[in-house]
Amino acid sequence: MTHQLPRLPYSLDALEPHIDATTISIHYGKHHQTYADNLNKLVPSTEFADASLEQIILKAQGPVFNNAAQVWNHTFYWESMKSNGGGEPKGELLAAIEKSFGNFAGFKDQLSKISVTQFGSGWGWLVKKKEGTLAVVQTGNAANPLTAGDVPLLTCDVWEHAYYLKYQNRRADYVGSWWNVINWDAVAARLAKAK
Ligand code: MN
Repeated sequence: MTHQLPRLPYSLDALEPHIDATTISIHYGKHHQTYADNLNKLVPSTEFADASLEQIILKAQGPVFNNAAQVWNHTFYWESMKSNGGGEPKGELLAAIEKSFGNFAGFKDQLSKISVTQFGSGWGWLVKKKEGTLAVVQTGNAANPLTAGDVPLLTCDVWEHAYYLKYQNRRADYVGSWWNVINWDAVAARLAKAK
């Protein structure tokens, strides 16, 4: 099986001014593409030759895991955002956030904090736990909550390549701007599917 990137679900400049077109162009066209290219070189003639990304993530280690997870994580990240996104979620998603975090502001504070404080490269996530509650988790490098049995609902890429051209060392400013492009409809659909 050849792993191909899905098309970016919006134009390169769709997330301006929060995430700039040059960053998206390099992030999607070079970084994300390279993970897929590496994976396609690694898996032929291994037990993962015909495995899905999810199957690889749950079973593989080392370079195969890292590249498969980074392909998955980035597709999930692109689909977590949209032009003119942001604001606050509604309906069942908002109710689930309020039940687990008290209120939206408390959730926003917690997800921002774990995204900003992830040491080195990684990801900040909103997940649904097995017991049904929502939680925020940070993962390092390529790691993905699926391996812990959590269902990912939303992610923020905090690798430097996600923000350095526009924000340099100011990761907190990038995370703050990222809230303006979240696609809450996509997050709500993921929660609905997780039931
Ligand atoms: Mn990235």
